[in-house]
Amino acid sequence: MRTFMGRVTDVRDGSVALDRTAFYPTGGGQPHDTGELAGVPVVEVRKGEGDVVWHTVGGDGPLPAVDEEVEGTIDWNRRHALMRTHSALHVLCGVIWNEWGKAVTGGNMEELAARMDFEFDPLPEGFAARVEELVNAELAAGRPIEVSFLPRDEALADDALIRTKANLIPDSVAEVRVIDIVGLDRQADGGTHVRSTDEVGRIKVLKTESKGKGNKRIRLEVVDG
Ligand SMILES: [Zn+2]
Repeated sequence: MRTFMGRVTDVRDGSVALDRTAFYPTGGGQPHDTGELAGVPVVEVRKGEGDVVWHTVGGDGPLPAVDEEVEGTIDWNRRHALMRTHSALHVLCGVIWNEWGKAVTGGNMEELAARMDFEFDPLPEGFAARVEELVNAELAAGRPIEVSFLPRDEALADDALIRTKANLIPDSVAEVRVIDIVGLDRQADGGTHVRSTDEVGRIKVLKTESKGKGNKRIRLEVVDG
């Protein structure tokens, strides 16, 4: 969804809350969307208390008023680049888990660029070229990427599903959203993804670095297939 209508529920300090939104707020390692709301630019989107999402608007235009119906449009080029990047990172995690049994320790993504840290010590010989080849083969395979929801208890019981600490999922979450790259990787995840791995394109590993014991960093970019 690139364009939607929402009703303004609150306005505070240059930020607007709506009864519904297609804007993705910063979270789960994925940066926020940008775009326009009622004709003014949206420069930041973040989660507030409960389900509230705050859209910070820039420029000098007037802010919409509470109860006003407004049109929101997300910057699709940025969002699609982030979706491609996010899906590429799940493929990377799946490949590294299946091939080397190593878990993620951290990461960061921007549009078509990312770094991810894994618990290697040290990196295997020829790692950069090998992981690039394996990831690109999985991307080219056109694996479907499916979204589903699992009851919290069922999700927590599945060790493979939540490789980060289970206590990162707040108690208030009754259902866990799952991203399934069919046949490769299933992860609890709140981010946005493309529909199939071939929509990502390809990755290029730019650099590998040691960030200490049991912590090796991979820098990559996402390029058109
Ligand atoms: Zn993710």
